[in-house]
Amino acid sequence: MDFTLDPQIEEYRTRIRDFVENHIMPVEELPQARDEGENINEEYLQPLRAKAREEGLWCFQLPRSAGGQEVGIVGMAALYEEMQRSLFGPVCFNAAAPDDGNMMVLEKLANEDQKRRFLEPIVNGSARSAFIMTEPAPGSGSDPGGMMQTRAVKKGDRWIVNGHKWFITGAGVAEVFILIARTSDDPRNGLSAFLFHRDDPGWELVRRIAID
Ligand SMILES: Cc1cc2nc3c(=O)[nH]c(=O)nc-3n(C[C@H](O)[C@H](O)[C@H](O)COP(=O)(O)OP(=O)(O)OC[C@H]3O[C@@H](n4cnc5c(N)ncnc54)[C@H](O)[C@@H]3O)c2cc1C
Repeated sequence: MDFTLDPQIEEYRTRIRDFVENHIMPVEELPQARDEGENINEEYLQPLRAKAREEGLWCFQLPRSAGGQEVGIVGMAALYEEMQRSLFGPVCFNAAAPDDGNMMVLEKLANEDQKRRFLEPIVNGSARSAFIMTEPAPGSGSDPGGMMQTRAVKKGDRWIVNGHKWFITGAGVAEVFILIARTSDDPRNGLSAFLFHRDDPGWELVRRIAID
């Protein structure tokens, strides 16, 4: 097999390696750069994100039409490897979960209004997002299709959602949320995704736990 990378990916890979080495690793050394969950705190993160964006090392995963660099899945595999040399790496390049996957989903499935309201702020770095799926046992984890307990029921023009979720990365700072809930007992098509903004009425974050 030929494992040679496209020259453009190779160039991005080298530039990311240098950026991680010269700008991110030194910050990783600083105890004061960490938040309570041991990740990079906002004070140190924002300048690094601004610098990465300025240098064009930003949002590689999306098509160019959506503000990305369109490097494809194989390209992303090579770039993730370089970014991940530091725990702080991916988020500096707007390539960290859950924003990474949420942007890909919204780019593929959201309508134009939803893209403007929910996707663009994540792409331009002004908003973060969260993905609300996992539940405590016996709820959804590795097998959300079969085990999802959270139910959403339509009442008039509103949806009432009942369930218990946990492990929701970034929920404390996110503005854009995608919540997965059961809307029917159909084994293949029973789950729906609900897209909402932090400022939308009708929900609140009840508890935040940082994992040591
Ligand atoms: C750092 C971190 C961040 C996370 N962020 C998010 C988030 O933002 N949003 C969110 O919704 N969730 C998040 N999660 C949760 C994560 O997606 C779940 O932990 C994961 O899906 C596994 O589910 P579970 O923990 O319930 O394990 P379980 O599904 O209970 O699995 C336990 C073990 O059994 C194994 N297993 C399960 N089913 C099978 C099977 N059929 N065959 C063989 N082995 C099996 C698994 O591999 C695993 O080893 C996060 C988790 C971590 C650790």
